[in-house]
Amino acid sequence: MISAARLAQLRGLIQAGRDALFYTWPEWLGLRLEVLRLDQYECQSCKQRGRHRAAKIVHHVKHLKDRPDLALSVWDPDTGERQLVSLCKRCHEEQHPESQRQFARRRPPLTSERWD
Ligand SMILES: [Zn+2]
Ligand SMILES: [Zn+2]
Repeated sequence: MISAARLAQLRGLIQAGRDALFYTWPEWLGLRLEVLRLDQYECQSCKQRGRHRAAKIVHHVKHLKDRPDLALSVWDPDTGERQLVSLCKRCHEEQHPESQRQFARRRPPLTSERWD
C-alpha cells in the first residue's frame, strides 16, 4: 500500500511528467524484488502460454498514470487479481503500445539548446 504522503507526491510527479522518478523510490525497488521472487523470476504472460522466459520487468496492470493509488499494491483490491506482475521485455512492450510511439519520436537531448 502507498502512504497518503507518497500518493500526493506521486500525483505531483505524474502531473509534471516526471513519473519516471517513481521507479527510483526505495519502496518500489523493494516491492519490485518481492514480486519477482513471488513469480520466481519468470514472465507470467509467457508462462500462461506454456513458455518459460526470465522476467525483467514488474508491470502495473492498471497503469501508474491511471491508478497511482495502486502504485505499490501487489494485488488489485477491486478485482482480487494481481496488480503487479513480472514480465519479460517483449511481453511488457505488448502492454505499452503507447511507449513504442514515444521511442520512435526520439526527442533531442535536453542539453542541445543550452550552449548555443
Ligand atoms: Zn513474456
Ligand atoms: Zn508496464
